[in-house]
Amino acid sequence: MEFTPVIGLEVHAQLKTRTKIFCGCSTAFGAPPNTHTCPVCLGMPGVLPVLNKKVVDYTIKMALATHCAVQPESRFARKNYFYPDLPKGYQISQYELPIATNGYLDIEVEGRSLRIGITRIHMEEDAGKLIHDPDRPISRVDLNRTGTPLMEIVSEPDIRSPEAAGEYLRRLRAILRYLDISDGNMEEGSFRCDANISIMPEGSTVFGTRTEVKNLNSFKHVEKALYYEIARQKEILLDGGQVAQETRLWQPDKGQTVSMRGKEDAHDYRYFPDPDLLPLVVDDAWVDRMRAQMPELPAQRQARYIADYGLSSADAKVLTGSRELSDYFEACLTEFDQPKTVANWIMGDLLGLLNAKGVEIENTPVSPENLAGLLKLLDADVISGKIAKTVFEAMAATGQPAKTIVAEKGLVQVSDTSAIDPVVDAVIAGHPNEADRYRGGQKKLMGFFVGQVMKQTRGKANPKVVNEILRKKLG
Ligand code: ADP
Ligand code: MG
Ligand code: ZN
Repeated sequence: MEFTPVIGLEVHAQLKTRTKIFCGCSTAFGAPPNTHTCPVCLGMPGVLPVLNKKVVDYTIKMALATHCAVQPESRFARKNYFYPDLPKGYQISQYELPIATNGYLDIEVEGRSLRIGITRIHMEEDAGKLIHDPDRPISRVDLNRTGTPLMEIVSEPDIRSPEAAGEYLRRLRAILRYLDISDGNMEEGSFRCDANISIMPEGSTVFGTRTEVKNLNSFKHVEKALYYEIARQKEILLDGGQVAQETRLWQPDKGQTVSMRGKEDAHDYRYFPDPDLLPLVVDDAWVDRMRAQMPELPAQRQARYIADYGLSSADAKVLTGSRELSDYFEACLTEFDQPKTVANWIMGDLLGLLNAKGVEIENTPVSPENLAGLLKLLDADVISGKIAKTVFEAMAATGQPAKTIVAEKGLVQVSDTSAIDPVVDAVIAGHPNEADRYRGGQKKLMGFFVGQVMKQTRGKANPKVVNEILRKKLG
């Protein structure tokens, strides 16, 4: 019996504002514990929260990017629960009336386009952090993070495979980064995902009971945890059992999920509108202002690369995968206007280098100017394709421009026949057997002779010229 997975994701993105959502405390990361706090984010009695307008700006932008309807009026609510990292005893969030609803995100999985519905986007505050002492049975509380603005993006249960879940998350994160409203870093916790998953018999339209998986801190782990849950739930159902609706914890080191708690229901939280905050009114003018500030998004860039540069859809997708990579590509083009050549070098040599070194494009040792400089030399036949690879490696190691490396190492391509002639003569004289066989009809040996000449000239001879001379001399 085959089953179809049904997946819905809840994503929390930390917003890149300078100050917290309801007070003026800094959101800067890494300060000594409890130094970025004030009576508001410490939850002292009698204080009043004041909404940070930037948080609304950013959320509107995300809503527009995901085709959501921005609600003219939304509300903040109190979600009540007790935990030591939540001094107020409630989290301010949006509940019944979120700021944005009913959008979608198009993703591509194995060449197929899928539309994933977005149920809602809302704003809320983050809680503090507990630091557990590894040696003693005590925990400490750091409230610097308390009140950091979060945006929660809830998807419809439209996702049908772990790969699609990964792709949805990558796309969402790319959009956040293009909009420059979140770092979107899963490892550092500025982009968090809870995955809801159930399975149903293939062909069915009735969803099964879901579990919610927490503690997923990389894209890899999201996919692994989903695979694990699919297998676990399948086994239960095939055994005639029932999946329990519960929250489960992913244990990355063990590669399994374990039960954390029964699923809490909304009524457990005693949600009610926060009496300290006015309803949030967003008029058309505000939305229009944000729309005017929207940058080009990944999907639009991808379409432009295909239309204007003649790139394949797959290549355009790779290049627009992150804003940084896409900006890099465009920076190269301002200096060297051959999109396909630039694209090939970025996707081949550059990404190969970065992957091998485990470095992000932001920290590339080869600047766009230097890559473009290299391609100019290659295009002008100053260096050969083979030498270009050597120069690329030297640029990666030293950060120097191609021109300097070529000049210092004497790598300029030799096209002058009078310099190549004697080398060709020597190679032919040194290989009389091969020369006879070539003359006898084994034309494939041309490659051998070219190789020998290139070797003798340490790759500097212009292969085109070498070919011509060889053909002449071998008759
Ligand atoms: P809660 O707030 O209790 O977590 P929601 O109704 O907000 O519940 O749903 C949370 C997520 O669970 C959403 O992303 C939704 O798409 C997903 N979801 C709902 N039902 C199912 C199901 N049967 N299987 C998988 N995911 C589901
Ligand atoms: Mg949930
Ligand atoms: Zn504060």
